[in-house]
Amino acid sequence: MRSAGRVVAEAHRLVRTLIAPGITTAEIDLAVERLFEQRGAQPLFKGVPGKVPFPAVCCISVNEEVVHGIPGHRALQAGDIVKVDTGCRLDGWCGDSAWTYAVGEVSEECRELMRVGQENLELAIREMGRSERWSQVAEKMESHVRDSGFSVVEQFVGHGIGREMHEDPQVPNFVSKQLLRQDFRLVPGLVLAIEPMVNAGGKTVRILSDHWTVETRDKRPSVHFEHTVAMTDQGPSILTDGS
Ligand code: MG
Ligand code: MG
Repeated sequence: MRSAGRVVAEAHRLVRTLIAPGITTAEIDLAVERLFEQRGAQPLFKGVPGKVPFPAVCCISVNEEVVHGIPGHRALQAGDIVKVDTGCRLDGWCGDSAWTYAVGEVSEECRELMRVGQENLELAIREMGRSERWSQVAEKMESHVRDSGFSVVEQFVGHGIGREMHEDPQVPNFVSKQLLRQDFRLVPGLVLAIEPMVNAGGKTVRILSDHWTVETRDKRPSVHFEHTVAMTDQGPSILTDGS
């Protein structure tokens, strides 16, 4: 899984060099598609079933778009925040990672939101090494977002990952009765895609008529950060940070 994770990390390093005013989201997607081809990796997102199969290698979501944005002709502008989420399978194993990038100078609110989102992912990974069960991690993630004055997206959650991109268990970024019923122990061998989604305004999201793009109902910005993380005997190990 580490090999697949390294290719996903390489995709994000490439994306970081491309992010600039004027580039279209389709151009970013094409660059990642070519990289996966060169590495012999199979893209995981293209063809994911839905009302229409997902048409691209990356989900690219701008500003108020939360996740699952479809790459296209939209050119990035200074002040945008853009979330790029991608995954691949290599030698039968999957990696999945998302990051939020600033395009040029962004607003104070977006900078703060990006800081809190990234901290939330880092906090989750740190707490995985100190907690017995996922609900203890989710509780800390939820409090951190709430204390920052932002909100946690509840309609979409993280997931187990292995031979398939989406495996059990569900990995929510907040505590609910459902989580407490389906809580799980953080044991070595477990591999999770941890992916906090944090909204500047309210938690409510809706799906656009393209059947994929999720945006905030109040149109305020949202951030998304995701790593594939393995529990090992030495604690949590990030597989998609390029190490
Ligand atoms: Mg992802
Ligand atoms: Mg994921």
